[in-house]
Amino acid sequence: MVIRESRGSKKACIHSSSSSTDLPLFKSNTMSKVHILVFPYPAQGHILPLLDLTHHLALAGITITIIITPKNLPILTPLLSSHPNTIQTLVLPFPPHPKIPAAAENIREVGNAGNYPFINALSKLQPQIIHWFTTHPNPPAALLSEFFLGWTQQLADQLTIPRIAFYSVAAFFTTVFTRCWHNSNEINNNNNSEIHFHGIPGTPSFKRDHLPSVFLRYRESDPDAEFVKESFLSNDAAWACVFNTFHALESTYLDHIRAELGHARVYAVGPLGSNRAENPSAGSEVLNWLDALEEEGSVLYVCFGSQKLLKKKQMEALALGLERSQTRFVWVAPTPSEEQMEEGYGSVPDGFVDRVSGRGVVVTGWVPQVAILSHRVVGGFLSHCGWNSVTEAMVSGVVIVGWPMEADQFLNARLLMEERGVAVRVCEGGDSVPDPDELGRVVKRVMSAESPEKQRAKLMREEGVRAVSEGGDSSMEVDRLIEALLQLGDKQGR
Ligand code: UDP
Repeated sequence: MVIRESRGSKKACIHSSSSSTDLPLFKSNTMSKVHILVFPYPAQGHILPLLDLTHHLALAGITITIIITPKNLPILTPLLSSHPNTIQTLVLPFPPHPKIPAAAENIREVGNAGNYPFINALSKLQPQIIHWFTTHPNPPAALLSEFFLGWTQQLADQLTIPRIAFYSVAAFFTTVFTRCWHNSNEINNNNNSEIHFHGIPGTPSFKRDHLPSVFLRYRESDPDAEFVKESFLSNDAAWACVFNTFHALESTYLDHIRAELGHARVYAVGPLGSNRAENPSAGSEVLNWLDALEEEGSVLYVCFGSQKLLKKKQMEALALGLERSQTRFVWVAPTPSEEQMEEGYGSVPDGFVDRVSGRGVVVTGWVPQVAILSHRVVGGFLSHCGWNSVTEAMVSGVVIVGWPMEADQFLNARLLMEERGVAVRVCEGGDSVPDPDELGRVVKRVMSAESPEKQRAKLMREEGVRAVSEGGDSSMEVDRLIEALLQLGDKQGR
């Protein structure tokens, strides 16, 4: 079966306001005048968890303004309709940049190579934000902005308000990433095949290619690159930081970050998104297909995030591997455009869907990933190890079959495989082609009920669910963060 859904039907993630894990302390009657400015980075994997957190803040009665550019505004629709009185938007035109095609406003439209121009372009919004702030009758008491917008630290300094940096990535990734920027020359001049990170717990080491791609793009003395470096380094000066992670997964690195920063305003509030409200029509056919199955944990979900397309050879190998795994699966395989086909990207091989009929489903559009992962019959996730996918898998108790490709994915995979034992590696690298026999064998082994990785993933689920339940670590950290923001509002009011 092939299911086509429009990939344009992406909706922002929000927690259901009737969730039992909503904030117990601040739920209904703590209406406060505190006003917070939220600035997300326009890439799906960055914007969704920050909107989740914003939903929590709005539930606590905090007034919020979200900075957004016009084409990204629809992503906010579900959140805005849930909080018509507490959340407003500051819609600013996307500033032009010679390396950004006209009308592109989201990284999805340009790929990860667009990060440097995007970070530079968005910094041009500063004068308009300052003007809005200085003429506002109740200006924000704090700025909550993505770590990809580190330059907003200077903005907050100018506005004389504290900045809270939101990290849509792992704490482990952040420790390595921060170290990369602080030692950029040393790392760039290091010819060793493995780069060792002394002083980080466990002294992790990585092949150069596996370091964060946004760091690998850095070229000294290129003005855009220098600005990006300064921007990331500015995150160190944030008044507080918030991570979409939880203690059972990353306490070592959260403690390390607290020690490095020298303060305790480091909040682990994840996994965010577990009660995400999705577009109700998206993915209904897949969910119906899953509903009709019986065997718990028997289905492998295959999806490589919101941006990644595979080359033709990769698609063929993956299709063969899935066939050979003899495992039930749902494969999210967006169809490339004609132009992308000419560049070598591929769709599922001809005849594949018929050959796996009854055992596998191919979806070409956007699916409600959180709902799929938490479905009782889904037990595994063949993933690129993007951090949102990781946290969503962890709270669903689903074992990860990892194929890290770029960005933070190699580091995430290391954390899951070598430290937590909840994932196995099946391939590595954005251009690599998996061996179909090996892929089939690994999937079959990991998906069996006895696989130790699967059992550990189930235990991790208990930890993740506990973390966001009332009285859990992450739930209490959200409360602490809200309390801190309310106090900032009180100070401003005095
Ligand atoms: N996602 C989804 N449906 C899809 C594809 C992706 O809901 O069809 C969501 C997924 O749940 C996750 C995000 O998109 O929240 C992808 O983020 P991740 O960090 O895993 O990868 P990225 O897209 O940043 O590479």
